[in-house]
Amino acid sequence: MPVERNTGRNPTAKELAEAKRIAALPKEVQRQHPSALPADPSKLDHINTYGWLPEFYIDKPFRCRDCGKEEIWKAADQKWYYEEAKGHTDATAVRCHDCRKARKANARRGGNG
Ligand SMILES: [Zn+2]
Repeated sequence: MPVERNTGRNPTAKELAEAKRIAALPKEVQRQHPSALPADPSKLDHINTYGWLPEFYIDKPFRCRDCGKEEIWKAADQKWYYEEAKGHTDATAVRCHDCRKARKANARRGGNG
């Protein structure tokens, strides 16, 4: 049976607690954490704002703005978002998978969501 990639959707209480614990650690400690992914600065050229550039990515717990559900924005997904999808650093995960999906479906129907 193939192992499903952990996308941070429907995290267990334990996963959430661990992500929160790591998120609260000082940056120097997070950087050394086995779950941290180093950033590739050559892929972050599109970010030309002053200030913060990611040096590494770490699992990021967040609460959905729409329904209040807690999920984890995985380090691997952040790396993909910033480096491959060329996302901006001021955009962070604010909605859970289900709410994002619902919004996309709504947009396709020409809804005003
Ligand atoms: Zn939600």
